[in-house]
Amino acid sequence: MELLTSYTLGELRERFKELGLEAYRANQVLNWLYKKFEVDFLNMTDLPKVHRELLSRHFRTHTLEPIHRATAEDSVKYLFRTQDGHIIETVLIFERDHLTLCLSSQVGCAVGCRFCATAKDGLLRNLTTGEIVDQYILVQRETPQRIRNVVFMGMGEPLANYEGVRKAVEIMVSPWGIELSKRRVSISTSGLVTQIRRMAKDPLLKGLNLAVSLNATSQHLREFLMPISKTNTLKELMQTLVELPYPSDRRIMLEYVLIKDVNDSEAQAKELAGLVAPYRRKFKVNLIPYNPDPSLPFERPPMERVYAFQDVLRSYHISTFVRLSKGLKVFGACGQLRSKRPELMVK
Ligand code: SF4
Repeated sequence: MELLTSYTLGELRERFKELGLEAYRANQVLNWLYKKFEVDFLNMTDLPKVHRELLSRHFRTHTLEPIHRATAEDSVKYLFRTQDGHIIETVLIFERDHLTLCLSSQVGCAVGCRFCATAKDGLLRNLTTGEIVDQYILVQRETPQRIRNVVFMGMGEPLANYEGVRKAVEIMVSPWGIELSKRRVSISTSGLVTQIRRMAKDPLLKGLNLAVSLNATSQHLREFLMPISKTNTLKELMQTLVELPYPSDRRIMLEYVLIKDVNDSEAQAKELAGLVAPYRRKFKVNLIPYNPDPSLPFERPPMERVYAFQDVLRSYHISTFVRLSKGLKVFGACGQLRSKRPELMVK
């Protein structure tokens, strides 16, 4: 069976013609799916019954199977099973005045950040476009309020699954699709320099928000925390970001996970300020106190140290925010998503 969420409108119109259906029926079907979040063809009542039955035989509207949901005060974490038996996680975050959905883009991750639970499994595979879009559809279906913000910050490095993520974004921002504003879609990367440059030239992706995990102020420490930095060096990354064309009314987010006694000292705050201050109009810094994971040897710094770090950056007039990770209680915060958590694989 074919998966509906893997098609763009243009592709689906062609496919419908091959099946002997008028092309405009594709618009109707995607309207049901992406505007009303209807996943049962038989309920798409403006199509003739014979068409609905034909579509039910040829297509599925989603492929992920919801297997678990854990609710906390500030978030809901969903576990989905893929057709080939992998478990992926999606987190819905309740912000003050809106909802944000944190999507996974890969099963596991090859980047190998030392502080990240997802890295422990390595990369198992890329998620398909359909599996990425399914996460949105399945969560939106059971959420009364519209989800208007999406971040690719779950399992995986989104820019390492460039084509799969790109097409998912096309479905999410197109008028015939979910129709999110590009300003409300964010890609969070570990700093893959070539892919960042590619994204900046890509007419579809260049208007999205970009968040880059920095996490260290020296090449030596960054290489230790993020082995990807051996080939995507701190210098090259900063140079790329400084030169990157970016909407003048927005700033690139530099994510800095604060880990106790590793990268949270006052001296490191000053080093970070030294890197960012000359380009302060281009960046803002998000400080993320580390979310401890029982399987990893890192700790969260005390909040006084987090705020002291912030004060140093602010004294250099760098726009700096402390992001207390939502979803901590449900193990869904950044760097804590993992494909195999046997204790959470509850049906
Ligand atoms: S922090 Fe992100 S990029 Fe790094 S290993 Fe984890 S999922 Fe991959």
